[in-house]
Amino acid sequence: MAVSRLEPGTRSVPPSPSTPLIPSAPPNPSTPPAPDSRRAAVFLDKDGTLVEDVPYNVDPALIRLTRGAIEGLLTLHRAGFPLIVVSNQSGVARGLFDEAALGPVEARLRELLGAAGVPLAGFYYCPHHPDGSVARYAVACGCRKPAAGLIERAARDREIDLGSSWMVGDILHDVEAGRAASCRTILLDVGHETEWKVTPARTPDAVAPDLATAARLILEHGAAVASLGAVERSAASPFRSLARASDPADAGSR
Ligand SMILES: [Mg+2]
Ligand SMILES: [Zn+2]
Repeated sequence: MAVSRLEPGTRSVPPSPSTPLIPSAPPNPSTPPAPDSRRAAVFLDKDGTLVEDVPYNVDPALIRLTRGAIEGLLTLHRAGFPLIVVSNQSGVARGLFDEAALGPVEARLRELLGAAGVPLAGFYYCPHHPDGSVARYAVACGCRKPAAGLIERAARDREIDLGSSWMVGDILHDVEAGRAASCRTILLDVGHETEWKVTPARTPDAVAPDLATAARLILEHGAAVASLGAVERSAASPFRSLARASDPADAGSR
């Protein structure tokens, strides 16, 4: 897999070399971490990232994992990362389904992943939307991405170190939420972002075509924040030219 570089300097604060950013090896049962140690996690958007995007779907029978999801999550799980879903579910606020309908969705997702040996460490969702039709959910909340609330809540619950964690999603709102929570971010550039309102706060550390590639980038480049790989995918992506310009060897490969 050819991997090229994103422009350095997209993050203002480089990591301290003395601080390991990701686990360097799978957890070793003989040397448990100190009780107060916080772990790096990988936060995952659900729709379009972990599962194929079927708008407002809550039918468990229609849930399909995305290409590369099992491979990528297995890689991350084996490397010791807790895997935590953070999902906007404004269908609740819009009156399209009840919050209770998300239970079977979570159960089916855990079933599909569990069958492949991948546990989920958490499933968090935001049921709100400021323009919703259900009064109690029609609020401007702090948990709807691009806000960082869901990630921060999960981090508190699970004792996650956000500065060494990652957020992976398929649109720039996911990137913005991850960055706002101090995580590093990977955009799955699969054609789901359409507006491309790119600002420094919405610029991913890397771009990947699927979760399998994203997982490899996280493991291979975890300590090199400013030099993460980018893999172009969408013709509409502004990161396409960046990847191409910075790695001529990759330019003719697709
Ligand atoms: Mg999504
Ligand atoms: Zn919310």
